[in-house]
Amino acid sequence: MSAHSIALAAREAFAAGWAVSGGPMTGRVRIACVEAVRIAVEQADDPQILEATLDLGKLEGMWALLFQRREKLTDQYTAAVTTAWRKLIRPRLFRDGLHHLRAQLGLVEAAPDPAAIRAAALAAARGILVSLATTSGWAALRQTIRDALAAGRAEGIVNAVAIAAERVGRIGLDWDIAFDHAYQQLARLDELWSEADTWLARLLDRATTDLGRLLAEQAANGGSYEDMLDAASTLLDTADVNAVAFVVDWALTTGADQGALTLYTSEGVQAVDWITAGDGRVCPTCEDNETGSPWQINSVPQAPAHPLCRCVLAADMNLTRFAGWFTT
Ligand SMILES: [Zn+2]
Repeated sequence: MSAHSIALAAREAFAAGWAVSGGPMTGRVRIACVEAVRIAVEQADDPQILEATLDLGKLEGMWALLFQRREKLTDQYTAAVTTAWRKLIRPRLFRDGLHHLRAQLGLVEAAPDPAAIRAAALAAARGILVSLATTSGWAALRQTIRDALAAGRAEGIVNAVAIAAERVGRIGLDWDIAFDHAYQQLARLDELWSEADTWLARLLDRATTDLGRLLAEQAANGGSYEDMLDAASTLLDTADVNAVAFVVDWALTTGADQGALTLYTSEGVQAVDWITAGDGRVCPTCEDNETGSPWQINSVPQAPAHPLCRCVLAADMNLTRFAGWFTT
């Protein structure tokens, strides 16, 4: 065969594998395809090369689907938590805190020093946001975060099964059926409530830092009470609250990693691989964790390694117990 016809056959094989995975066509898949075709042309003498190329297509498709699902889940819960959060944010919440801050800084007089402004603004922000816990929407926010953690865990479990299935060439996983089943199994997991409280505390911390910084800026620039109120509302009562997006992303990933690790432990898995997403956001710690794979299950580094970490814990696993999740 000519190099050209080998390249064509390899591209077809990769595409066929990718199609079996049910995954989306992404930039990463395209790059992987080009690379797979290059390897196939290079190793054209290997009688198994097209089969190997097809397997690569399946593998890349599985990862593309996994990351697409996680992204969707993150978007979905970021929106849900944002909605619950915004119900708590009312101008009257800010009123006392802002008046107190302004009185303290004597904003009509000469401005005090920047460090004093920052400290007072941070204290005011803390006072304002701590009061959210006493508002009527707090329970709903807590519930939404708990649900996000459950969804993260369920997805982590499904992902672990998908990876294990891919490793042995088993096809036909119905990711949605698997997710629903895994999610239902977590309905009575009490520890999710204490975890939800931990993430709520992180959310308040982050929002407090953001609000404190904003109020300090306003105070330093001689902003009026109305300016401060406007700025605070713009920061915390919009469709895109930074603190919410940051914390939900981190919480979901943590949930997913915990879900996978708990599953591996209960299934008697011994060795776990740390797999980086290879999306250009991989930090040196994550690279080292990948290079250090496989890890003994009880010594695998804490995952995620950092907020916005996209790494995944992968392992070989007996799939007998999950037969109901496969359509073939
Ligand atoms: Zn990472």
